[in-house]
Amino acid sequence: MVYSQKDINDWQHRYPLLKDIIELEPVFWINPNLKKNEASASLPLTREDMEKAELLWHRFAPFLAAEFPETKESNGIIESPLANIDKFKRTLSTPVEGEFYLKCDNELPIAGSIKARGGIYEVLQHAETLAIEAGILTKDDDYTAFSSKEFKEFFSQFSIGVGSTGNLGLSIGIISAKLGFNVFVYMSADAKQWKKDLLREKGVNVHEFEGDFSIAIASGREKTIADPKGYFVDDEDSKHLFLGYSVAALRLQKQLDQKKIAVDEEHPIFVYLPCGVGGSPGGITYGLKQVFGDNVHCFFVEPTHSPSVLIGLLTGEMERVSVQDFGIDNRTEADGLAVGRPSSFATAVSDNLVSGIYTIEDNDLYKLLAILADTEEIFLEPSATAGLAGPERVLSYMEKKNINAKNTTHIAWATGGDLVPESDMKSFYDKGKSLL
Ligand SMILES: *Cc1c(COP(=O)(O)O)cnc(C)c1O
Repeated sequence: MVYSQKDINDWQHRYPLLKDIIELEPVFWINPNLKKNEASASLPLTREDMEKAELLWHRFAPFLAAEFPETKESNGIIESPLANIDKFKRTLSTPVEGEFYLKCDNELPIAGSIKARGGIYEVLQHAETLAIEAGILTKDDDYTAFSSKEFKEFFSQFSIGVGSTGNLGLSIGIISAKLGFNVFVYMSADAKQWKKDLLREKGVNVHEFEGDFSIAIASGREKTIADPKGYFVDDEDSKHLFLGYSVAALRLQKQLDQKKIAVDEEHPIFVYLPCGVGGSPGGITYGLKQVFGDNVHCFFVEPTHSPSVLIGLLTGEMERVSVQDFGIDNRTEADGLAVGRPSSFATAVSDNLVSGIYTIEDNDLYKLLAILADTEEIFLEPSATAGLAGPERVLSYMEKKNINAKNTTHIAWATGGDLVPESDMKSFYDKGKSLL
């Protein structure tokens, strides 16, 4: 439903920030619903769910190490480094107090993006469930059995579908095809050509849809569930994706320990997460809150043209409203974030956990991309640079909460980049340079 001007005026009267959001101004919103000590009581998941998810990753690790050579070194565990980005920090015009790190999910094996966490997890748990139900697997077995001809034949009778702007399709497509599933990826028109090409190369069926991401999801959902042996990975409402993402928090905790970075009341961490439907930032925020409680402050970042989670949370309307309802076009170069309607599952959980959201213009994403490349030689896709603006955007929040900026550690979550073809990356970089 597209609101009339009168409706929009009413909304703006109730939520004055909406005026700037609709005018596509970069905004910073502090979440009035953030709760202190929000561990788990009122949430649909528990810490135990998260720990069980981590155990599933470990069961599959021997299979992943055998099938994906790039995971051999980590014994089949899909994880990324936490890198200090001091050189980047020193070039910023607004000085940043505290340490600045990059969580390099652009380097995640197999999918080259944060979708290697949620997407691969959801397909693995589905495959495990099917195999156990069929009586061909127990949780104590050696999971390299998933590489066998017998297992691949078994999975070839099942199909998996997913709607995606690109990266989720890549992760689901690659892992599903490897397991032997028939896999269908429904993509929006703005998905990058190289992503479609790569998927077809891997034996994935790619269907393209004119128009918005939500149309690709809706058609994919309908076509997939029409097959009794079909399973739809639903980015707009998935608990499994969410759990897969949440495990990142347990891993980050270990990395912070190893680097002797204290996290306590005097030394809070600030985490900046690029946000599309809200699944990956929501899952990671959920996990971090389980681990660090009030000592972690999580912020989502959306493009000025796709502030779907911001509008959902700000108005309390959650997934019932889209950016288009408010006359916002959902057109952004940040294809990983080009989402007009938030996830219902993730957004409900994030409501009491996320500290705030800021929006950012596409041109700034390109500029950050070029600066990071020049200073640290790290190359990200445009969506993935959004968190790098975090430290300068949250200063008013720090002041309000009486947080001493000197003692903080900032972590920008770099959500993708490694699979981007060199020629595309070069044009991203050139664009950023030309804007600086
Ligand atoms: C998917 C994606 C995100 C956001 O994740 P959501 O679950 O859609 O919120 C951020 N960055 C990149 C590169 C992505 O592919």
